[in-house]
Amino acid sequence: MPTLKKIAAILNPPAPHMVGDGFRVHNFFPSGYKIKMDPFYLLDYNAKIEFSPTNKLRGVGVHPHRGFETVTIAYHGAVAHHDSAGNSGFIHPGDVQWMTAASGILHKEYHEENYSKKGGPFQMVQLWVNLPSKYKMSTPKYQALANDNISKYELPDRNGVVEIIAGEYQGIKGIASTFTPIEMYNLKLKAGANLVLASPATYNTALIVIEGSIRVNGTEQAATNQLIHFALEGSEIEIEAKENAVVLFLSGEPINEPIAQYGPFLMNKPEELQQAIEDYNTGKFGYLEE
Ligand code: MN
Repeated sequence: MPTLKKIAAILNPPAPHMVGDGFRVHNFFPSGYKIKMDPFYLLDYNAKIEFSPTNKLRGVGVHPHRGFETVTIAYHGAVAHHDSAGNSGFIHPGDVQWMTAASGILHKEYHEENYSKKGGPFQMVQLWVNLPSKYKMSTPKYQALANDNISKYELPDRNGVVEIIAGEYQGIKGIASTFTPIEMYNLKLKAGANLVLASPATYNTALIVIEGSIRVNGTEQAATNQLIHFALEGSEIEIEAKENAVVLFLSGEPINEPIAQYGPFLMNKPEELQQAIEDYNTGKFGYLEE
Protein backbone atom coordinates (compact mmCIF):
# COMPACT_ATOMS: atom_id res chain seq x y z
CA MET A 1 0.00 0.00 0.00
CA PRO A 2 1.61 3.30 -1.05
CA THR A 3 2.06 5.89 1.65
CA LEU A 4 1.84 9.66 1.36
CA LYS A 5 5.04 11.61 0.76
CA LYS A 6 5.98 13.44 3.90
CA ILE A 7 5.92 17.24 3.59
CA ALA A 8 9.29 18.62 4.68
CA ALA A 9 8.48 22.34 4.39
CA ILE A 10 6.17 24.88 2.79
CA LEU A 11 8.39 27.75 1.67
CA ASN A 12 7.64 31.36 0.82
CA PRO A 13 9.44 32.87 -2.16
CA PRO A 14 12.76 34.44 -1.10
CA ALA A 15 13.38 38.14 -1.86
CA PRO A 16 13.53 38.69 -5.63
CA HIS A 17 16.42 39.96 -7.75
CA MET A 18 16.60 41.04 -11.38
CA VAL A 19 18.22 38.85 -14.03
CA GLY A 20 19.12 41.36 -16.72
CA ASP A 21 16.22 43.80 -16.93
CA GLY A 22 13.64 41.25 -18.06
CA PHE A 23 13.27 38.71 -15.26
CA ARG A 24 12.44 39.41 -11.63
CA VAL A 25 13.14 36.10 -9.96
CA HIS A 26 12.82 34.49 -6.57
CA ASN A 27 15.57 31.89 -6.28
CA PHE A 28 14.04 29.04 -4.28
CA PHE A 29 17.29 27.04 -4.53
CA PRO A 30 20.24 26.74 -4.26
CA SER A 31 20.55 30.32 -2.84
CA GLY A 32 17.14 30.90 -1.24
CA TYR A 33 16.84 27.60 0.59
CA LYS A 34 19.36 24.80 1.06
CA ILE A 35 16.97 22.04 0.07
CA LYS A 36 17.91 18.79 -1.67
CA MET A 37 16.39 18.85 -5.15
CA ASP A 38 19.08 16.98 -7.16
CA PRO A 39 18.83 16.55 -10.23
CA PHE A 40 17.26 20.04 -10.18
CA TYR A 41 20.14 22.37 -9.32
CA LEU A 42 18.47 25.78 -9.52
CA LEU A 43 14.94 27.17 -9.53
CA ASP A 44 14.40 30.80 -10.50
CA TYR A 45 10.75 31.68 -10.15
CA ASN A 46 9.49 34.86 -11.81
CA ALA A 47 6.28 35.37 -9.79
CA LYS A 48 3.59 37.20 -11.74
CA ILE A 49 4.46 40.86 -12.29
CA GLU A 50 3.33 43.55 -14.72
CA PHE A 51 5.75 44.99 -17.24
CA SER A 52 4.87 48.37 -18.75
CA PRO A 53 4.70 48.71 -22.54
CA THR A 54 8.05 49.54 -24.14
CA ASN A 55 9.77 49.56 -27.52
CA LYS A 56 12.99 48.39 -25.91
CA LEU A 57 13.36 44.62 -25.51
CA ARG A 58 13.98 43.69 -21.88
CA GLY A 59 15.91 40.56 -21.12
CA VAL A 60 19.32 38.96 -20.74
CA GLY A 61 22.13 39.34 -23.28
CA VAL A 62 24.52 36.71 -24.60
CA HIS A 63 25.88 34.40 -21.89
CA PRO A 64 27.28 30.84 -21.77
CA HIS A 65 26.19 27.61 -20.08
CA ARG A 66 27.94 24.26 -19.71
CA GLY A 67 27.25 20.99 -17.92
CA PHE A 68 23.46 21.06 -17.55
CA GLU A 69 20.09 21.89 -19.12
CA THR A 70 17.93 24.99 -18.77
CA VAL A 71 14.18 24.47 -18.78
CA THR A 72 11.95 27.51 -19.20
CA ILE A 73 8.22 27.21 -18.52
CA ALA A 74 6.01 30.16 -19.50
CA TYR A 75 2.74 31.05 -17.74
CA HIS A 76 2.28 34.72 -18.73
CA GLY A 77 4.18 36.91 -21.17
CA ALA A 78 6.45 35.68 -23.95
CA VAL A 79 10.18 35.24 -24.48
CA ALA A 80 12.27 35.12 -27.63
CA HIS A 81 15.39 32.98 -27.56
CA HIS A 82 18.51 32.59 -29.71
CA ASP A 83 21.53 30.35 -29.21
CA SER A 84 24.94 29.76 -30.76
CA ALA A 85 23.89 26.36 -32.14
CA GLY A 86 21.59 28.27 -34.51
CA ASN A 87 18.37 27.57 -32.63
CA SER A 88 15.83 30.28 -32.01
CA GLY A 89 12.19 30.45 -31.07
CA PHE A 90 9.47 31.86 -28.88
CA ILE A 91 8.19 30.64 -25.55
CA HIS A 92 4.52 31.59 -25.14
CA PRO A 93 2.22 30.83 -22.20
CA GLY A 94 1.86 27.04 -21.87
CA ASP A 95 5.07 26.37 -23.81
CA VAL A 96 8.26 24.86 -22.45
CA GLN A 97 11.77 25.23 -23.76
CA TRP A 98 14.21 22.50 -22.82
CA MET A 99 17.76 23.50 -23.78
CA THR A 100 20.58 21.05 -23.26
CA ALA A 101 23.68 23.21 -22.91
CA ALA A 102 25.88 20.15 -22.19
CA SER A 103 29.37 20.81 -23.69
CA GLY A 104 28.62 24.49 -24.10
CA ILE A 105 26.34 27.02 -25.65
CA LEU A 106 25.85 30.77 -25.81
CA HIS A 107 22.32 32.10 -25.66
CA LYS A 108 20.24 35.22 -25.07
CA GLU A 109 16.71 35.57 -23.75
CA TYR A 110 14.54 38.64 -24.40
CA HIS A 111 10.88 39.51 -24.07
CA GLU A 112 9.10 38.83 -27.34
CA GLU A 113 8.47 41.99 -29.37
CA ASN A 114 4.65 42.06 -29.44
CA TYR A 115 4.45 41.30 -25.72
CA SER A 116 6.99 44.08 -25.01
CA LYS A 117 4.95 46.64 -26.96
CA LYS A 118 1.72 45.75 -25.15
CA GLY A 119 3.22 45.00 -21.73
CA GLY A 120 1.17 43.05 -19.20
CA PRO A 121 1.52 40.13 -16.82
CA PHE A 122 4.72 38.09 -16.93
CA GLN A 123 5.25 34.81 -15.06
CA MET A 124 7.87 32.13 -15.77
CA VAL A 125 9.88 29.34 -14.17
CA GLN A 126 13.47 28.62 -15.12
CA LEU A 127 15.13 25.44 -13.90
CA TRP A 128 18.67 24.18 -14.20
CA VAL A 129 18.55 20.42 -14.59
CA ASN A 130 21.90 18.82 -13.86
CA LEU A 131 23.50 16.22 -16.14
CA PRO A 132 25.41 13.13 -14.99
CA SER A 133 29.17 13.48 -15.57
CA LYS A 134 29.06 11.14 -18.58
CA TYR A 135 26.69 13.52 -20.42
CA LYS A 136 28.11 16.88 -19.34
CA MET A 137 30.22 17.19 -22.49
CA SER A 138 27.68 15.75 -24.93
CA THR A 139 26.44 17.75 -27.94
CA PRO A 140 24.08 20.63 -27.13
CA LYS A 141 20.48 20.22 -28.20
CA TYR A 142 17.20 22.01 -27.98
CA GLN A 143 13.62 20.88 -27.49
CA ALA A 144 10.93 23.45 -28.23
CA LEU A 145 7.83 22.04 -26.56
CA ALA A 146 4.85 24.01 -27.85
CA ASN A 147 1.72 23.68 -25.71
CA ASP A 148 -0.19 22.03 -28.59
CA ASN A 149 2.38 19.22 -28.61
CA ILE A 150 2.57 18.67 -24.84
CA SER A 151 0.79 15.47 -23.76
CA LYS A 152 -2.35 16.08 -21.72
CA TYR A 153 -4.47 14.00 -19.38
CA GLU A 154 -8.00 15.33 -18.91
CA LEU A 155 -9.23 14.92 -15.36
CA PRO A 156 -12.71 13.36 -14.92
CA ASP A 157 -15.75 15.70 -14.74
CA ARG A 158 -13.97 18.52 -16.61
CA ASN A 159 -11.96 19.21 -13.51
CA GLY A 160 -8.87 20.30 -15.39
CA VAL A 161 -5.86 18.90 -17.15
CA VAL A 162 -2.45 17.47 -16.34
CA GLU A 163 0.13 18.59 -18.90
CA ILE A 164 2.90 16.03 -18.88
CA ILE A 165 6.13 17.78 -19.81
CA ALA A 166 8.38 14.86 -18.86
CA GLY A 167 7.82 11.45 -17.31
CA GLU A 168 4.49 9.66 -17.35
CA TYR A 169 1.07 10.18 -15.79
CA GLN A 170 -1.89 7.78 -16.12
CA GLY A 171 -0.02 5.91 -18.86
CA ILE A 172 0.58 9.08 -20.90
CA LYS A 173 4.21 9.90 -21.59
CA GLY A 174 5.63 13.42 -21.68
CA ILE A 175 7.36 14.45 -24.88
CA ALA A 176 10.57 15.85 -23.39
CA SER A 177 13.54 13.53 -23.56
CA THR A 178 15.60 13.58 -20.38
CA PHE A 179 19.01 12.17 -19.45
CA THR A 180 17.87 10.92 -16.03
CA PRO A 181 14.40 9.93 -14.77
CA ILE A 182 12.31 13.09 -14.25
CA GLU A 183 8.61 13.71 -13.72
CA MET A 184 7.51 17.24 -14.61
CA TYR A 185 3.85 18.23 -15.00
CA ASN A 186 1.75 21.35 -15.05
CA LEU A 187 -1.52 20.78 -13.22
CA LYS A 188 -4.26 23.14 -14.39
CA LEU A 189 -7.08 22.51 -11.93
CA LYS A 190 -10.64 23.69 -11.43
CA ALA A 191 -11.82 24.53 -7.90
CA GLY A 192 -12.60 21.28 -6.11
CA ALA A 193 -10.51 19.08 -8.43
CA ASN A 194 -8.49 16.40 -6.73
CA LEU A 195 -5.86 13.99 -7.94
CA VAL A 196 -3.04 11.75 -6.78
CA LEU A 197 0.53 12.01 -8.06
CA ALA A 198 3.03 9.22 -7.62
CA SER A 199 6.81 9.12 -7.66
CA PRO A 200 9.36 6.93 -5.91
CA ALA A 201 10.26 7.79 -2.30
CA THR A 202 13.90 8.22 -3.39
CA TYR A 203 13.09 11.06 -5.84
CA ASN A 204 13.57 14.67 -4.77
CA THR A 205 10.18 16.29 -5.15
CA ALA A 206 8.46 19.68 -4.95
CA LEU A 207 5.25 21.44 -5.95
CA ILE A 208 5.17 25.13 -6.83
CA VAL A 209 1.80 26.87 -6.63
CA ILE A 210 1.75 29.12 -9.69
CA GLU A 211 -1.83 30.28 -9.22
CA GLY A 212 -4.64 29.72 -6.72
CA SER A 213 -4.30 27.57 -3.62
CA ILE A 214 -4.28 23.87 -2.86
CA ARG A 215 -4.59 21.40 -0.03
CA VAL A 216 -1.85 18.77 0.04
CA ASN A 217 -2.15 15.30 1.57
CA GLY A 218 -5.47 16.25 3.09
CA THR A 219 -3.96 18.51 5.73
CA GLU A 220 -1.53 21.24 4.63
CA GLN A 221 -2.57 24.32 2.67
CA ALA A 222 -0.32 26.09 0.20
CA ALA A 223 -0.97 29.43 -1.49
CA THR A 224 0.16 31.15 -4.69
CA ASN A 225 3.97 31.41 -5.02
CA GLN A 226 4.73 28.89 -2.27
CA LEU A 227 6.90 25.80 -2.79
CA ILE A 228 6.06 22.55 -1.04
CA HIS A 229 9.19 20.47 -0.47
CA PHE A 230 8.84 16.77 0.28
CA ALA A 231 11.00 14.49 2.40
CA LEU A 232 12.39 11.19 1.02
CA GLU A 233 9.55 9.25 2.59
CA GLY A 234 6.38 7.97 0.96
CA SER A 235 5.46 7.79 -2.70
CA GLU A 236 2.11 9.52 -3.27
CA ILE A 237 0.83 13.08 -3.08
CA GLU A 238 -2.84 14.00 -2.76
CA ILE A 239 -3.80 17.39 -4.16
CA GLU A 240 -7.09 19.22 -3.90
CA ALA A 241 -7.63 22.61 -5.56
CA LYS A 242 -9.25 25.05 -3.11
CA GLU A 243 -9.93 27.40 -6.03
CA ASN A 244 -8.87 27.34 -9.68
CA ALA A 245 -5.17 26.55 -9.48
CA VAL A 246 -2.04 25.99 -11.53
CA VAL A 247 0.68 23.86 -9.95
CA LEU A 248 4.08 22.73 -11.22
CA PHE A 249 5.15 19.25 -10.10
CA LEU A 250 8.87 18.42 -10.11
CA SER A 251 10.28 15.05 -9.14
CA GLY A 252 13.55 13.43 -10.14
CA GLU A 253 15.96 10.66 -9.35
CA PRO A 254 19.02 12.20 -7.70
CA ILE A 255 22.28 12.04 -9.68
CA ASN A 256 24.34 11.99 -6.46
CA GLU A 257 27.61 13.21 -7.97
CA PRO A 258 29.99 15.90 -6.69
CA ILE A 259 29.11 19.45 -7.75
CA ALA A 260 31.42 22.27 -8.77
CA GLN A 261 29.64 25.43 -9.86
CA TYR A 262 30.91 28.77 -11.04
CA GLY A 263 28.48 31.29 -12.56
CA PRO A 264 26.84 29.63 -15.56
CA PHE A 265 28.95 26.45 -15.43
CA LEU A 266 27.90 23.33 -13.52
CA MET A 267 30.50 20.58 -13.42
CA ASN A 268 31.83 17.90 -11.03
CA LYS A 269 35.38 19.13 -10.32
CA PRO A 270 37.07 22.55 -9.93
CA GLU A 271 39.50 21.78 -12.78
CA GLU A 272 36.50 21.29 -15.10
CA LEU A 273 35.35 24.80 -14.19
CA GLN A 274 38.81 26.13 -15.09
CA GLN A 275 38.52 24.34 -18.43
CA ALA A 276 35.05 25.81 -19.01
CA ILE A 277 36.33 29.34 -18.37
CA GLU A 278 39.31 28.77 -20.67
CA ASP A 279 37.11 27.29 -23.42
CA TYR A 280 34.68 30.19 -23.12
CA ASN A 281 37.50 32.77 -23.24
CA THR A 282 39.00 31.13 -26.33
CA GLY A 283 35.73 31.09 -28.27
CA LYS A 284 35.01 27.36 -28.04
CA PHE A 285 31.35 28.03 -27.18
CA GLY A 286 30.75 29.42 -30.67
CA TYR A 287 29.45 32.86 -31.57
CA LEU A 288 26.17 34.67 -31.06
CA GLU A 289 25.44 38.26 -32.04
CA GLU A 290 24.41 40.60 -29.19
MN1 MN B 1 20.68 31.36 -19.63
